[in-house]
Amino acid sequence: MPWNKKTKFIVITGGVLSGLGKGIVTASIGKLFSPRLKVMPMKCDGYLNVDPGTMNPIEHGEVFVLEDGGEVDMDFGHYERIMGISCKFPWNLTTGKIFMRLVEKERNGNFLGKTVQMIPHATDEIKEAFYSVANEEGADMLLIEIGGTVGDIENMLFLEAARQMRIELGAENVLFAHLSYVPVLEAVDEQKTKPTQQSVDLLREKGIMPDVIIGRSRHILEEKTKQKIALFCNVPVQAVFSSPNLESVYELPLIFEKEGLRGLIERKLNIRHKADLKNWQALVSKMKKPAGETTIALCGKYTKLKDSYASIAEALSHAGAHLNARVNLKWIDSESLEKGNSNIENAFSGVRGLIVPGGFGTRGTEGKIKAIGYAREKNIPFLGLCFGLQLAVVEFARDVCNLKDANSTEVDAKTKNPIIDIMPEQKNISRKGATMRLGAYSAYLKEKSRVWEIYGKQKIVSERHRHRYEVNPDYHDLLERNGMLISGTSKDGMLAEFVEVPKNRFFVATQAHPEFKSSLERPAPLFFSFVDACIDKKQTKLQVSG
Ligand code: GLN
Repeated sequence: MPWNKKTKFIVITGGVLSGLGKGIVTASIGKLFSPRLKVMPMKCDGYLNVDPGTMNPIEHGEVFVLEDGGEVDMDFGHYERIMGISCKFPWNLTTGKIFMRLVEKERNGNFLGKTVQMIPHATDEIKEAFYSVANEEGADMLLIEIGGTVGDIENMLFLEAARQMRIELGAENVLFAHLSYVPVLEAVDEQKTKPTQQSVDLLREKGIMPDVIIGRSRHILEEKTKQKIALFCNVPVQAVFSSPNLESVYELPLIFEKEGLRGLIERKLNIRHKADLKNWQALVSKMKKPAGETTIALCGKYTKLKDSYASIAEALSHAGAHLNARVNLKWIDSESLEKGNSNIENAFSGVRGLIVPGGFGTRGTEGKIKAIGYAREKNIPFLGLCFGLQLAVVEFARDVCNLKDANSTEVDAKTKNPIIDIMPEQKNISRKGATMRLGAYSAYLKEKSRVWEIYGKQKIVSERHRHRYEVNPDYHDLLERNGMLISGTSKDGMLAEFVEVPKNRFFVATQAHPEFKSSLERPAPLFFSFVDACIDKKQTKLQVSG
């Protein structure tokens, strides 16, 4: 598929070290143009996994789930939350995806006797993926974020494909932005530019001259730092920008706008556009100076790697911004609660609400159940997400319905009361990649239920899913007779999509992951209402907006 002669491309690379926030930078560049221009992000990951769905969150941070069920890199979370868009699975390329397509084509005889090579075949496959997304989406602008750091073997094919694209389409259609690290050496208290100079050298070795350099640093880049980067990296000083440490990452588009990044991109790519960041600015100001605050506990097993729960933390902060309150997160390690290493009262001290997030496997589950039981009995607002719903049902079955051995078969395959069980269509699946119940599914809500109110009295709502197990329908009646309302189900009533305990102030759980659909400008309704329930209205006279 050739280029459509319309889409402009911005390729974003990273230098010096990983973890500089390239995803946030990419999304913030997108925010300068979206939604007035049709801007689509793509992410290229160098690993051989076809998608990150099979990776442990400790390895790779959270697995983000899209509407279409694609399991993608967590940077897609930044794109959706900042740009307010909904992304698609083909927008995430991995070396595994590219190689799988190539090998398939080779076996089908598509290369007609040729030797199949990295260049041109793998690079052509990559460019083909760029052009087909651009064409299918009718994109005005495609942002291509290349994962990893320049100099890695992993991302070389993607860099080479981008280099070729610039030669083929010309500088007025393809722009390179390089994010680098500008450390401050404490002894001299000076922003040091050498790592940036060297990473730009590495990029030039690959035949790529950056048009824009963004320095990730503790503070805004000083004028003399910018001048030095400009001189040594062969760009005008007006093409050097800052990505400083920020209280809220949502502020970055405003910094870019202030430093003139949009104008420079427009001149280079020959586009005209008017930014509209007014609403954004207002929300960011509220986020930075909220009128009140609340503390919410998150009880999970990956509390050491906060990235594993990135979307939940962000969804809470979106809700907080609209409720004019800062949401402090307190991490409760489910394993230490389980082993009795930490005491439940201490864990909950200062806490006004509990979230039990998604999860897999046995480790830490009894700790989560303990936390849910505590919240239910003390009437502390509770939000259960996916595994969090399943464990809330287990806890309720054990403690209220008196099924002492109730469990999920994921945790105890031999339990006599498999109140959470594998979905029938999942039973015979042995392959692990992309085989869960994934993506957007509708739930049918019971009128007058809490979730029906929360979703604005809509009868049908859609949220994203990622699971293999479900509430066993044989137990629906028993749960309801004992005071747990199954307030949302699949169309046939078999899958419990939402449960709640109406007698409590706020005790709601969902089989879905509403955190994946929350963005700063449109917070997820369930998170909004949960955070609202966690705010002490007497202490803080809050103004609710939005
Ligand atoms: N492990 C559970 C399942 O597969 C929950 C999954 C999740 O929380 N995403 O159903």
